Amino acid sequence: MIAQLSIKVKGIRPSLAIFADADWTGNVRGYVSEELLDRALGMPDITTMEQLIGERACIQMVKDIGMDLAFTGITDMPYSKLSDNFGHYFHQSEQIPSYFWSLLLINEENEVVRSIGIAAQLLPGAPPSILRQIKEAVIERERQAPFCLNDDTIEVLPNLLFEDIEVMSTNTLQLFCECSKPVFYPMLYSLGITELKVACANRQSIEFVCHACGQAYSFSPEEIAGLV
Ligand SMILES: [Zn+2]
Repeated sequence: MIAQLSIKVKGIRPSLAIFADADWTGNVRGYVSEELLDRALGMPDITTMEQLIGERACIQMVKDIGMDLAFTGITDMPYSKLSDNFGHYFHQSEQIPSYFWSLLLINEENEVVRSIGIAAQLLPGAPPSILRQIKEAVIERERQAPFCLNDDTIEVLPNLLFEDIEVMSTNTLQLFCECSKPVFYPMLYSLGITELKVACANRQSIEFVCHACGQAYSFSPEEIAGLV
């Protein structure tokens, strides 16, 4: 069983990156680097991953299976859609035929307000045509009418695609990161007493950003003074 799965999409520079991880209890977290987000917002008619993240981008996955055992896989990204590149990753790295698809609903503030997706993988011995059927069902459904993303879409999605589908189980996911302000105290101390005193004297706040979820934590001059 996988205890934790971490995914990194890395561009030509470390500042162009997408990170996400999930654990077996359904906790998910992630972030898009600021430079990549700015690029995406500044290029509304972008059509390929290469335009966005540059050539030589790659997907890196780390599977933590517990007991200090982890497996890392890495592949290139030859396709224009991120979801197709994930399919490519599993095919190349784990020899598992896979199909991924996702749809995001983005508001005027460029925030993702809702998303749905499909991750389909063949069990050993299953005919590869099943993946093609799923892909064709999605394309056909999108051709008939665009998916409308509302509260019920996730529950009805399987039935929108196939009439004779049986839901075996459901799991909930939640956005969760174990970071908190106290986690950043050691980093604050590591700046050194001189720098902290300078920040207090200049009435400056010091901010840290969690690199797993993007949450920012700010220490006010008063808080810094208390620590000093
Ligand atoms: Zn965090």
